[in-house]
Amino acid sequence: MTSEQFDAVIVGAGFGGIGAAIQLKRMGIENFVILDREEDLGGTWHVNHYPGLAVDVPTTTYSYFFEPNPNWSRLFSTGAEIKQYADDVADKYDVRSHMRFNTTVEGARWDEEATAWQVALAGGQTLTTRYLITATGFLSQPHTPDIAGITGFEGKVIHTTAWDDDYDLAGKRIAIIGTGATAVQLIPELARKAADLTVYQRTAIWVVPKLDFRFSEGAKRLFRRVPLAQRAIRAVTDNLYEFFIWVGLHHRGLLGRRLNIGASDIAKLHRFLSIRDPELREKLTPDYDFGCKRPTFSNSYYRIFTKPHVHLQASGIERVEADAIVANDGTRTPIDVLVLATGFDLWEANFPAIEIVGREGRNLGKWWRDTRFQAYQGVSVPYFPNYLSLASPYAFLGLNFFNTMEYQMRHMDRLFAEVKRRGATTFEITEDANTRYLDRMTELIGDSVFTVGNCASSRSYYFNPSGEPTLLRPMSTRSAIKEASDFPLTDYQIA
Ligand code: NAP
Repeated sequence: MTSEQFDAVIVGAGFGGIGAAIQLKRMGIENFVILDREEDLGGTWHVNHYPGLAVDVPTTTYSYFFEPNPNWSRLFSTGAEIKQYADDVADKYDVRSHMRFNTTVEGARWDEEATAWQVALAGGQTLTTRYLITATGFLSQPHTPDIAGITGFEGKVIHTTAWDDDYDLAGKRIAIIGTGATAVQLIPELARKAADLTVYQRTAIWVVPKLDFRFSEGAKRLFRRVPLAQRAIRAVTDNLYEFFIWVGLHHRGLLGRRLNIGASDIAKLHRFLSIRDPELREKLTPDYDFGCKRPTFSNSYYRIFTKPHVHLQASGIERVEADAIVANDGTRTPIDVLVLATGFDLWEANFPAIEIVGREGRNLGKWWRDTRFQAYQGVSVPYFPNYLSLASPYAFLGLNFFNTMEYQMRHMDRLFAEVKRRGATTFEITEDANTRYLDRMTELIGDSVFTVGNCASSRSYYFNPSGEPTLLRPMSTRSAIKEASDFPLTDYQIA
């Protein structure tokens, strides 16, 4: 069977893959395909559709820099609107026609002789491509907890990434495991329907108030007619979020530390104003610093625990039975529905999401584990020619995925333009440049909340299994964009 040949293969049709595709088109590369295991585009915004799903970054900021959306209904828009935005952008930039759905990529191997990647698909087909770009996201491999007895539960089990829209929760006795950002959005919705709701919390989360509001029709008209007005609002929300990241994560110096304490004080006050019972407040109080784990926003989360039919169980789960959960304190709670808001497996299943084998047989997942998790500028890895890994260690800028995408698109722009200018066929990051970048990230992270703060009990996915906080790129969006626009081209071997 002859293999189909492409200039580029992108794995993942979420916002990362769509952005990479738009960038390829800008550079005149049209012979590419975007592969996705799902039956539609949008990545996490296609997969997730649980009740209450909304973005937790203001939507004025949660969009591509080059494609503001004047139609957002409110400051923190719903999941359905964001999925619509993904559809609209894919159509406007004509990238949907490049997409192949229900296509699972099993792995990719660099073919030295052909100076090309061989991309293996489930079902046995192989594609050949000059460039390989993986845009598999950070939160794409659902985590199902390994709790004693869970497979023997005879009621309805729903993971938040596979929400059953047809299942009626009204009047049901529901248990939800997890209190991450997803659960914080979902719990108030479940409480509205359930006869009884028990929330199984292992680690409390920092929750701050959500300053949300609807955009009036007049505001939307203004955004449509005067795009600069929306850009101005974006500048405000961008800067607020940069500040928030600086306070919450980078935590630099005495001022950073004081402000970090100030942010946790806001959450404390929010708890105090929402809940009168000091014991309940105490159980919901995190025992690690603000920022160690992604904090979240909600005006209803704390208050919902004051309802008589909503219970917080924080003693841990001993076992699940056919029709109940038994907690470590001996409480047995009969349930009809078990909701798993247990998040994602970031490190084991996602770095990388598929097997990638580069030059001289270097296996990316093995190499990351044998050495350290690393990727130059969050995109390139030595021994992996013509490959960009967009979901890499030290890639994600923090709260807003689109900022990450913006610097990655600019990186592609600078790199591919040089490859074209030289009439070259391959690029590969040098080991020296990669090591210098890793050393710099290690030094910067040394001054972040992850290192100087108290994060020991946070169980945060920002930390890899060796305990190193290698997920976030510890710098401002402005600095990352500047670096993407002027990194030394000699950092790459271009031949
Ligand atoms: P998560 O933050 O990883 O939370 C998973 C929850 O499940 C945690 O509370 C965890 O407890 C609990 N858990 C996992 N295994 C467990 C076990 N065996 N026993 C008991 N509890 C267990 O996942 P998430 O809530 O889905 O959120 C993931 C990320 O998605 C967020 O941080 C955010 O970045 C993103 N998100 C974004 C939005 C948005 O609007 N943009 C909305 C939702 C989610 P431990 O903490 O103790 O491990």
